[in-house]
Amino acid sequence: MNDNTRRVAIVTGGNKGVGLQICKDLAAKGLQVILTARNPELGKAACDQLSAQGLELIFHRLDVNDAASIEEAVRFAEGEFERVDVLVNNAGISLDAGKRLQDVAVEAVESTLRTNFYGPLLLSRAVIPSMRRNNYGRIVNVSSDLGSMNSMGGGYPAYRISKVALNALTRILAWELSGTNIKINSMTPGWVRTDMGGAGAPRSVEQGAETAVWLAMLPDGGPSGGYFRDRKPAEW
Ligand code: NAP
Repeated sequence: MNDNTRRVAIVTGGNKGVGLQICKDLAAKGLQVILTARNPELGKAACDQLSAQGLELIFHRLDVNDAASIEEAVRFAEGEFERVDVLVNNAGISLDAGKRLQDVAVEAVESTLRTNFYGPLLLSRAVIPSMRRNNYGRIVNVSSDLGSMNSMGGGYPAYRISKVALNALTRILAWELSGTNIKINSMTPGWVRTDMGGAGAPRSVEQGAETAVWLAMLPDGGPSGGYFRDRKPAEW
């Protein structure tokens, strides 16, 4: 029997890095977390790791590149818990370190946009009907300092563009959802020690996850359509 009073959160890319820490922190705060990953073995192992620490999460497969997988995961959440309250679009890839926009392979640009932008777009669209029904929703888009137009420069061109697009998605959906209790915000974790960020990054996963967790649990009067770093508004 499921406890239907707990907020239900879907987190993408939950098997490692910032996503795993977001899952851990949300579960520790009492949310019913559905830790999702494209690789079931890695996802289940991550759940086992957290349950060994006394946290109770559920695993479900979700490949953000696969529309059928997105729909199936949302159907699972709604079937099991009758709603989705929180979506954290965390899954991301970075394929073009050291590349220039003039010669990066178009396939790399397409793949990056598919994962970092189309995935969050399809998933947000899939959960919004449930959030509307319950007049409650928190969508968190894990963006990047590299997606900031204010400091836009070279390096990681496809990755940068994907995060700019993700930030635009945040603004547009926030506008469309104004007047509802569905809040959608972007955040940057900063440069974090993960497989993507590398061992030399200055921030821990705990620091990287903190603002996403805060946005996932915003009170009803909280902001929507914003971009945050360390819980404070950041330059787009
Ligand atoms: P990470 O350790 O490389 O983890 C990325 C996660 O995304 C993994 O779980 C990966 O799954 C998952 N993923 C990739 N493609 C997917 C797909 N098609 N479907 C589902 N999951 C998929 O990276 P991270 O540093 O934790 O990054 C998390 C988020 O933070 C990303 O959006 C990234 O852009 C952002 N970010 C990171 C940094 C940083 O310094 N680390 C800085 C700014 C922003 P697999 O294990 O199966 O590959």
